[in-house]
Amino acid sequence: MYLYEYQGKELFWEAGIPTPRGIVVKNPEEAEAAFAGFSSGVAVKAQVHTGGRGKSGGIRLARTIEELRESIGIILGMDIKGHTVRQLLVEEILPIKREFYLGLIVNGKKGMITFMFSPFGGVDIEEAAGRDGSGFFQWDIEDPLSVEEFHIRNFLRKGGLQGNILASATSIAFKLYNLFLKKDLVLAEINPLVLTEDGNLKAADARIETDDNALFRQPDLSFTVDETTDKLELRAREIGVSYVQLPGDVGIIASGAGLAMNTMDILERRGRKPSNFLETGGGITSKLIADSIELLISNPAVKGVLVNLYGGVNPMVEAAMGVISGLKNCDMAIPVVVKLLGNQQEEAWSILESADIPVVKSVSTEKAVDILLEKMGAV
Ligand code: GDP
Ligand code: MN
Repeated sequence: MYLYEYQGKELFWEAGIPTPRGIVVKNPEEAEAAFAGFSSGVAVKAQVHTGGRGKSGGIRLARTIEELRESIGIILGMDIKGHTVRQLLVEEILPIKREFYLGLIVNGKKGMITFMFSPFGGVDIEEAAGRDGSGFFQWDIEDPLSVEEFHIRNFLRKGGLQGNILASATSIAFKLYNLFLKKDLVLAEINPLVLTEDGNLKAADARIETDDNALFRQPDLSFTVDETTDKLELRAREIGVSYVQLPGDVGIIASGAGLAMNTMDILERRGRKPSNFLETGGGITSKLIADSIELLISNPAVKGVLVNLYGGVNPMVEAAMGVISGLKNCDMAIPVVVKLLGNQQEEAWSILESADIPVVKSVSTEKAVDILLEKMGAV
């Protein structure tokens, strides 16, 4: 999950990484009250789960109360790449002399943590192109647990830092690295890391992503669960399925990732959008399927559900019973079509048919999609 900037900065505070003082606000009244606490003006920053706010106009500086009101009027409610701005961070303005980039990422391809630094930070480096240039330095960490402060100092020196700035950047980078390991992060970016006019380094931005599979051992990161999407994804984690929330209205339950993606493609080819990706994996029980059905239908956007299963190790009789009991637990009557093959298929089909649930008995997902769309009144 991505953290909001202000949540990331709270982690920075705890870790001893210097960052501007700020207050989160939700309306003009709160913003004006916050403004009174800053004598030399504020930066007003949209809090959304996406980067590139600077370029989209989601960050403005306000030195007077009039400028503040104008900024709030523009940013609050603004749409940034599909995210509506409902919260703002009002924080102390930084007199910026230079902007650096400092980041850590779990590089899935290499299976390593990579340190990243650039002496040319700021809004332009956010674009991928800026990351390929000669001014961008990367260090793939071979042995994460043996990293010491001097390794980091050497890396930043190669990136062009020296003197006092090298010393304080090293201290910040080392704290960032320890935070990264301790909190099971997969991304931690400070862009920009600002050198102020008076010679201090401060984290002016915080872009942090947690490892969702490690959240069970990070109870103090549970504050990230504050939106419907996150709630559904958290519930999916409890159930034990892989789930990704999507913007469409057709729910999908599939027994494998490939089957799920294939189903999504066929749906999109029919001009419809999936409401989710859901993969059960190999541990199907009737409870897991019932819980998954309930999860999908608890999303108010969902108008129909396609269950697409292949039973190799998975017992299809359990799946069939799960579909029936899941639907019983829902108040809403939503069309459901099941395509199911493999282990105990005949028995499973007759269980579903005796409950009047449409069953597709061939390998054709297209057919299942068409029956569902017809039942949804969508064709
Ligand atoms: P992003 O565009 O979503 O990554 O948002 P950032 O927090 O990185 O802000 C974008 C840019 O706004 C930064 O690179 C700075 O140039 C500028 N900015 C942000 N905060 C301040 C501030 O307190 N003072 C000044 N002068 N500029 C700021
Ligand atoms: Mn930034």
